[in-house]
Amino acid sequence: MRPFLFVLLASSLFAADYKAGVARVVITPGQSIYLSGYANRNRPSDGVIHDLWAKALAIEDAQGGRTLIVTTDIIGLPRALSELIAARAQKQYSLDRARLVLNSSHTHTGPLILRNLNIMFELKPEEQQAVDEYGRDLGEKIVSLIGAALRDLSPAQISFGNGRGGFAVNRREPTPKGVRLGVNPPGPSDHDVPVLKVAGPDGQLRAVLFGYACHNTTLTGEFYKISGDYSGFAQIGIEKANPGSSALFLMLCGADQNPNPRSKLELAEQHGNALAQEVNRVLGGPLQGVRGPIRAAFQTVELGFAPHSRETFQSRLADTNVWRVRHAKAMLSAYDERRPIRRYPYPVQAVSFGKDLTLVALGGEVVVDYALRIKKEYGSKGIIAAGYSNDVMSYIPSLRVLKEGGYEADTSMIYYGQPGPYDEQVEERIFTTIHRVMKRVKRSPGQ
Ligand SMILES: [Zn+2]
Repeated sequence: MRPFLFVLLASSLFAADYKAGVARVVITPGQSIYLSGYANRNRPSDGVIHDLWAKALAIEDAQGGRTLIVTTDIIGLPRALSELIAARAQKQYSLDRARLVLNSSHTHTGPLILRNLNIMFELKPEEQQAVDEYGRDLGEKIVSLIGAALRDLSPAQISFGNGRGGFAVNRREPTPKGVRLGVNPPGPSDHDVPVLKVAGPDGQLRAVLFGYACHNTTLTGEFYKISGDYSGFAQIGIEKANPGSSALFLMLCGADQNPNPRSKLELAEQHGNALAQEVNRVLGGPLQGVRGPIRAAFQTVELGFAPHSRETFQSRLADTNVWRVRHAKAMLSAYDERRPIRRYPYPVQAVSFGKDLTLVALGGEVVVDYALRIKKEYGSKGIIAAGYSNDVMSYIPSLRVLKEGGYEADTSMIYYGQPGPYDEQVEERIFTTIHRVMKRVKRSPGQ
């Protein structure tokens, strides 16, 4: 028994080599504001179910290497805002871009963020002003939040476990007329619920970072009250069960997954409670200690769009669909300014904690195929594959989804103001970059 005891003791000593800091700030809009995510909405919000939060978790290794993970109950952080926050964090706190992860929960009952998804609505000047003010204020709040988490750094034990959650269902329903947004239970899903536990030296829970790969869309377009949807309820449920702690939700690769069933407030609460219960169950069970140096890598890769010309959009100006017309006008004005959109700089990030855990953070609305392929290539132990990180510029289809077509491959690009579908290199370009950042953080395939 003695050697076994020694191993346990040694691993718990190593686990205390980290410091962690936690901070949180309410980001609920102070006034009625347009909610993002559903193009059918025609007026601003009319009330609040519960607060929206930005939360930050800072972790520092024994050598002073840091990472800072920020989670936000909003639809998505556009690149302009992420870059502003990252530049300020570099200047004020000497935090490297690679070490800052900015994730958003993708709630569809949260505010419009600056010009993200701006083809969806045509706002009145005062409505646009409320959106612009909210975005500026959000940037300031997140920069201060990062500082607060760094000031909170103190000795911590970090451990990791995985649970399961079943309410995410593939939504790409095959029909004789092609793939439509529906319910497709046999389609691929990723039901992992990764749980990162951050406790003080006394074992007291300080923070839990958990994730799920499912659209935050229990609440549909007819809801006008602000909330975090299922992930908002999940955070509340975990914090209630663990007083004094903060629960941070990471949105994973759930772009082609919807909560099932949906469209009722009670269901958002039900899914959130189910997720909270699973996280609490994992927290109470045996967890893998996390040790070792924190390494981080961040790289952008240019994604190309399928070829388009001025005529592609000119022919749509007479369309009866208002969004297609609005989009065509935006694309034509880009041609007029001699800067038609041909490529997009896509962010790929990896953060590793020794050999025990790696977080892959991808930009955009990433379909589940990416998470499944990452886990196939790198092993499903000690890995978190997140989407909706650092920039949310469009859906990110796999080659399979791109070829099948439908909303995630094609029609969603209208709302994001992108010229059209990505070209067929999209998945391989992203994976080449994933392989590069994984190599830089020393995560080997099949580990
Ligand atoms: Zn979405």
